[in-house]
Amino acid sequence: MAARLDEKLEPIFQDVLRRNPGESEFHQAVHEVLETLGPVLVKYPELAERKIIQRICEPERQIIFRVPWQDDRGETHINRAFRVEFNSALGPYKGGMRFHPSVYLGIIKFLGFEQIFKNALTGLPIGGGKGGSDFDPKGKSEDEIMRFCQSLMTELYRHLGEYTDVPAGDIGVGQREVGFLFGQYKRITNRYESGVFTGKGLSWGGSRARKEATGFGTVYFLEEMLKARNDGLEGKTCVVSGSGNVAVYAMEKIYELGGKVIACSDSSGIVVDEKGIDLDRVKRIKEVERRRISTYADEVKHAKYIEDGNIWAVPCEAALPCATQNELNGKDAKKLLQNGCIAVAEGANMPSTPEAIRLFLESGIAYGPGKAANAGGVATSALEMQQNASRDSWTFEHTEQRLHEIMKNIHRNCYETADEFGAPGNYVTGANIAGFLKVSQAMEAMGLI
Ligand code: NAP
Repeated sequence: MAARLDEKLEPIFQDVLRRNPGESEFHQAVHEVLETLGPVLVKYPELAERKIIQRICEPERQIIFRVPWQDDRGETHINRAFRVEFNSALGPYKGGMRFHPSVYLGIIKFLGFEQIFKNALTGLPIGGGKGGSDFDPKGKSEDEIMRFCQSLMTELYRHLGEYTDVPAGDIGVGQREVGFLFGQYKRITNRYESGVFTGKGLSWGGSRARKEATGFGTVYFLEEMLKARNDGLEGKTCVVSGSGNVAVYAMEKIYELGGKVIACSDSSGIVVDEKGIDLDRVKRIKEVERRRISTYADEVKHAKYIEDGNIWAVPCEAALPCATQNELNGKDAKKLLQNGCIAVAEGANMPSTPEAIRLFLESGIAYGPGKAANAGGVATSALEMQQNASRDSWTFEHTEQRLHEIMKNIHRNCYETADEFGAPGNYVTGANIAGFLKVSQAMEAMGLI
C-alpha cells in the first residue's frame, strides 16, 4: 500500500489518474513524488496557487508514431514508438530511448517524469524526456536492428535537436543502436550535430566514461550513503540484478572500492558465485557474445544458475537493483532485511515497489532511490554534450572525476534537503524535494507557458 497523500495533493493525483487511464507505472511514479511534497506546499504556498505540480505532471509534448520495417525474410512489421518531451524548464529534453516489448505510453511517461527530477539533481542544464518502442531486439539480426533504427529516426528526427531534445540509450539501446540512430539523423538532416544524441562511440563524438557512468555513479552514491553512517563498501558482500550496461559497471566499481559481488542476473535467471562474480567473463558473455547469463554457470563449475531464481533471496549486505522497474517487491524487501542487508542503491529506474520502499524507509537502512542514485548516467551525457559543444574530448580520469563530484553533490543535496524538510536520512524525500524545487523555480521565473 502506498502512503496517503496530503489533502492538497490528493485531488491533483486523482486528476492524474483520470487524465491518464491505464498508465499504472506513471501513476506510481507521480504518487511517489507527491507523497513527499506536502511540506513544500506549506513552505511555498505560491507553488500551489500557480499550479506548478499540475503543470509538471502534464508533459509539454507527447509524440506517438508508427515504425514500419522489414525483417531479413522480407516480411513487414509494424512497431509503435514514443517520445515524451516532459519538461524543458532547465534545458533541452534529455532522456534515453528504450526498446523492449513491454514499452507503452505509461512506461515512457513514468520514465520521463522521473527524468525531470533526476536531471535537475545533476545541477546541469537539462530538461526531462524519454522515448522508446515496443520493438524487441532479442533474436534480431544486426541488419534488422539497423533497419528498425533507421525507420524510427526517419520520423523522430524532426522532433530532435541539440537545443531541443537529446536522446540517449536505455534498456535495449546501447552504442550499436545509438550509432544507427545518429547515422540516420545525420543523413536526413545533413548536419553532423554531435550534441543531438549521447552515448555515442568514442571515435564519433562520444564521451569517455559515459558507458561506465550510470553503474559507477550508483556505487559512488552507495559509498556516500555508507560514509554518512561511518561505514564503507570495503569487504561488503553485494548482489546486483541484471547484467546489462548499468549492472556491469556497477559491479566493476564495487570491486574497485573493495566490495564483492556474489550474484547477478538477466530476465531468464540468476547466477550465484560465492567466490565472486568474474566480471571479465560477464563482459565477454553479455557485451561481446550477447548471450544469456546462464552461459556463466556452464563455464564456471562452482557457480550456480537458477532459472527464474530470485536474486533478492541471496543473502547480502548491499543490494543494487540494476535491471528494470518493479523488480523488487515487498516480499523481496523483507527477505533482504531479514538476511542483514544494510543498503540498497537503485541503478535501475523505479525498481522497488511502493511497499518495498516503505519497508526500507521504516527499517532505517540506507536506501538510495534511482532518481538520485543512477543520475550519473545522464550527468555524464550532459558532459558529453559539453564536450561536443566545445569540439573537445576529455580524458577518462577527468570525466570520471567530474562524475564523482556530481554524485557527491547529489548525495549532499538530497541528505541536506531531507534534513531541512524534517525527514533526516530519507533520500526519497530529499531527492524529490530538491529536484522539484529546482524545476519549479525555473518554471515560475518563465511565467505561465
Ligand atoms: P540493458 O543494458 O538493456 O540491460 C538490462 C538488464 O536488465 C539486462 O540484464 C536484462 O536482461 C535485464 N532486464 C530487462 N528487462 C527485464 C525484465 N522485465 N525482467 C528482468 N530483467 C530484465 O539496460 P540498462 O541500460 O543496463 O538499463 C537497466 C536499468 O537502468 C533500466 O531501469 C534503465 O532505465 C536504468 N538506467 C539506465 C541508464 C543508462 O545509462 N543506461 C541510466 C539510468 C537508468 P535480458 O537481457 O534478459 O533482457
